[in-house]
Amino acid sequence: VCSREPREDHRICVCVRKRPLNQRETTLKDLDIITIPSDNVVMVHESKQKVDLTRYLENQTFCFDHAFDDTASTELVYQFTAQPLVESIFRKGMATCFAYGQTGSGKTHTMGGAFSGGDQDCSKGIYALVAQDVFLLLKARAYEKLDLKVYGTFFEIYGGKVYDLLNWKKKLQVLEDGNQQMQVVGLQEQEVCSVEDVLNLVELGNSCRTSGQTSVNAHSSRSHAVFQIILKSGGKLHGKFSLVDLAGNERGADTAKANRKRQLEGAEINKSLLALKECIRALGQNKSHTPFRASKLTQVLRDSFIGQNSSTCMIATISPGMASCENTLNTLRYANRVKGL
Ligand code: ADP
Ligand code: MG
Repeated sequence: VCSREPREDHRICVCVRKRPLNQRETTLKDLDIITIPSDNVVMVHESKQKVDLTRYLENQTFCFDHAFDDTASTELVYQFTAQPLVESIFRKGMATCFAYGQTGSGKTHTMGGAFSGGDQDCSKGIYALVAQDVFLLLKARAYEKLDLKVYGTFFEIYGGKVYDLLNWKKKLQVLEDGNQQMQVVGLQEQEVCSVEDVLNLVELGNSCRTSGQTSVNAHSSRSHAVFQIILKSGGKLHGKFSLVDLAGNERGADTAKANRKRQLEGAEINKSLLALKECIRALGQNKSHTPFRASKLTQVLRDSFIGQNSSTCMIATISPGMASCENTLNTLRYANRVKGL
């Protein structure tokens, strides 16, 4: 079904990760409707009803660069997504990895934005795995002559505004300077010298993200979290890896019954996810015009979409249950479009 032709363009890689059915879904007797018949194919077996009320399965097939079933470890997912990009930031590259999907599908689990006291071990997430490889490369190769220093930033985009997660959620302005560079003015850049330092930053940012929130999940589902590992040489930007835990994409449902505030939030999220798709597609097709001004998210990540040395991977996370079918199909269609299909 899927051709394994090597892709002309290696700047964009789109993968899908399926999580296992959870306790709640099992208790509710939800069914697993997703199969991964080979390492780049996802099949959705949707249960449908005919006019005479007999049921049948409608099978839909989607192809990606890689597809991971619920037995795959985050480490394995990492090997095929973010890991191949790490080296590029030492060659002045801009690398970006997005986790995209419905709330509860495993974005934060994959990225490693664990919460203190939560069920997740953030040392196994992609933030930590990238950090590990950055410090390994820094040691193993003779980059010393560049005198590279490593910094971390962690911020959140909520309702089209930027908040610094390393500085008590201080609201920050985004400005375009004379060289068309986007600057998040006053964003904390914390020097890090080890994986442990990075994990401490993640922890600090997470506690900041959730402070004053009645529900951790409710808030994180409506905001994008951006964690960046930045290399600087002589105080100047050398390369950057941005790791983005996107807001949940399940907007249709909550706009119907939601209040005005939720609707506005939903519209903002829709706008940014749409803009993101267009920007990644423009990168993949080497278009000269990139519509990064269309949302705060794409503005802030402008460097990721422009320039010969930018590469992006997307991990689309999906829930296996029948109850999530509509959201899962939306996620798979979006990921397909990002890939340029
Ligand atoms: P999201 O960030 O997309 O809203 P989470 O990452 O918080 O979703 O995942 C929801 C729940 O499912 C969490 O309890 C998480 O530990 C669990 N989970 C997600 N992905 C996996 C996976 N691949 N394997 C095991 N548990 C997972
Ligand atoms: Mg999350």
